[in-house]
Amino acid sequence: MEQEIRKVREEICDVCGKLWQRGIVAANDGNVSVLLSDGSILCTPSGISKAAITPEMLLHVTKDLVVLDALEGMKPSSELKMHIRCYEERPDVKAVVHAHPPIATSFASLGKGLDDYKVMETIVQLGTVPVAPYAKPSSDEVPDSIAPFLQDHDAVLLAHHGALTVGDSLKTAYFRMETLEMFAKTSLYMKLLGGGPDLPKEKIEELLDLRENGYHIQGRHPGYEKLTEI
Ligand code: 13P
Ligand code: ZN
Repeated sequence: MEQEIRKVREEICDVCGKLWQRGIVAANDGNVSVLLSDGSILCTPSGISKAAITPEMLLHVTKDLVVLDALEGMKPSSELKMHIRCYEERPDVKAVVHAHPPIATSFASLGKGLDDYKVMETIVQLGTVPVAPYAKPSSDEVPDSIAPFLQDHDAVLLAHHGALTVGDSLKTAYFRMETLEMFAKTSLYMKLLGGGPDLPKEKIEELLDLRENGYHIQGRHPGYEKLTEI
């Protein structure tokens, strides 16, 4: 167990550094957690820049929010309840990343989900990305707001807030956050270029099948859908 914890601490710090370097978080934005093999969780501390987090700053906690190990003065992320809800709703999920990627957050803040079926890679990697209704950050309403979307989606936008991705490993959850911002960016560019049609329906279904049946990463999707704005 100790060896696992040491390794995961390093991996979370690596992801935190990448989130900050790529501009997916600013200041103290975002949080990361990993579900360990004994059912406990390692999570980022609250209110610390992801650029400044070191392995020993991470908190070891239970799903009942009991702190097992933490440096003095460190509090678990204020969004830990949202992460725990992901683990409860999706037994396949072993890692959660929450961030405020600027373009995806702009879509989220306008209540616009991502449902372009135009770029092969984003269809295969993410399908569609719905927007969960606004909930006060760190409140119990946040887990409730995302829960209905988790069964069919691996990435969810949080209205007027940011984004959430899940995965069966930290690498997958993190890559989904990168791809989500890429999805938002290409959607924005396409709108600026005047827009255009989606791929034909049968080609979309073909790509969604790849998503279900193991392309690089298998993922959840509800089938072809167009999202309504909130
Ligand atoms: P924490 O620093 O408490 O993890 O909060 C950051 C955040 O993004 C809140 O939504
Ligand atoms: Zn946030």
